Amino acid sequence: MPISRRAFLASLTATATAQPIRPPNIILIMADDMGWGDLSCQGSPDIRTPHIDRMAAEGTRFTHFYAQPLCGPSRAALMTGCYPVRNSLMFNHLPKARTGIHPNEMTMPEMLKQKGYATMAIGKWHLGDAPPFLPTKHGFDRWFGLPYSNDMWPFHPKIVKPAREAQQGDIARARAKFTGYDGQGQVYPPDWFPDLPLMRDGDVAELNPEQNQLTERYTREALNFITANKARPFFIYLAHTMPHVPLFPGKNFEGKSPRGRYGDVIEELDASVGAILEHVRKQALDNETLVIFTSDNGPWAPYGIDAGSAGPLRGAKGSHWEGGIRVPFIARWPGRVRRGVVTNEIAASIDLLSTFAAFADAHLPAHKIDGLNLAPFLIGAAAKSPRDDFFYYAAPAQYLAADGRPANQRNLVAVRSGPWKLHVATGELYNLREDTGEQKNVAAKYPQHAARLRAMGERFNAAIVEEVRPLGHL
Ligand code: MG
Repeated sequence: MPISRRAFLASLTATATAQPIRPPNIILIMADDMGWGDLSCQGSPDIRTPHIDRMAAEGTRFTHFYAQPLCGPSRAALMTGCYPVRNSLMFNHLPKARTGIHPNEMTMPEMLKQKGYATMAIGKWHLGDAPPFLPTKHGFDRWFGLPYSNDMWPFHPKIVKPAREAQQGDIARARAKFTGYDGQGQVYPPDWFPDLPLMRDGDVAELNPEQNQLTERYTREALNFITANKARPFFIYLAHTMPHVPLFPGKNFEGKSPRGRYGDVIEELDASVGAILEHVRKQALDNETLVIFTSDNGPWAPYGIDAGSAGPLRGAKGSHWEGGIRVPFIARWPGRVRRGVVTNEIAASIDLLSTFAAFADAHLPAHKIDGLNLAPFLIGAAAKSPRDDFFYYAAPAQYLAADGRPANQRNLVAVRSGPWKLHVATGELYNLREDTGEQKNVAAKYPQHAARLRAMGERFNAAIVEEVRPLGHL
């Protein structure tokens, strides 16, 4: 049930001291390509994540939380509160891209700066690597990290079981003509990608950095930023490079996990979360700091043992089965976000912009967004999540036109409403509350639900196509 803005703000300030609280610090930690099933608290049998598990026990954990099927679109959704089709950021940008996030988009840090936040991005960006598209031009005071994925370097790991390799190559070349590095016209040869820059703010700090130090270096940056900004509200967006392939565990973690290299890097991420939470506590900021842990998309399955697991969910990164797009999501804010809650309410990364706006009492962008405010649910002022539906759009390869430009067609592939999920092209209908693995197509049994979801999807898609905003262009 929606509550008024006034009632919501009153509920936030109803503390023992009755003093209005300042906007919270926000630390948003995101893993890259970590699957739904890759935490102990999400059922992983062989990856040990005691710090993240404890964070979940001290906060609220969602089991039906939606990101987007790929890295770039997922980050666009998070930063702008929009389905990526709405602002044309629905594909992965390549190095030397001539496009990126449009200057008129309002990002999460730009929104928070209204309230005086100090802002830092650490890790992967992936919304365009040309200067006008970088984090320091889109609301972040500071940035330390990679402009795109860690495999986009001269040592790109070969996919173990290439799926439709010729088609993949054609798509990559077509896309490169429009959005980035054109390479030598082959599929990921050694010279396909340029040297990988590690960036400090707007400048290249190193080329092809030692990736086994990245998790530790990112963590140190986060701790330093917390210390330096503890007197004002701060926002840290810590978008880890791991566990995206190539996998690089730090020296102290290599060879330690029963789950192999993949487990090693997750266990290092877990230790990083532990170090951050401990530092927040030591700075006496626990009750003023919202910490979130999530992932950007499902596991990159073709990498086999080097990929994560979606647990009981069907599918993986890039697909619109649940395993491609549903990810772990944990929120912890002692004294505010409910403690020890595990919920199967529906929520999505597009909702975080609106949620942070509510917590910080900041204004949302004037343009249309898709997010809903989860804050009343998180603090227990509302019994249910405001979100009851979700619209799944195709991974980008499916809608690139022949000239390499993103086709004008916005390819809606599935619709969720309550427990029901309709796959648009095939007409398959699943009840996700009863059939976690999308195994039992019940379209014939419930034609009324299939028809209702199809109409919902058509209506939503028709509207969004009318309202599409452009990419930024050089
Ligand atoms: Mg990813």
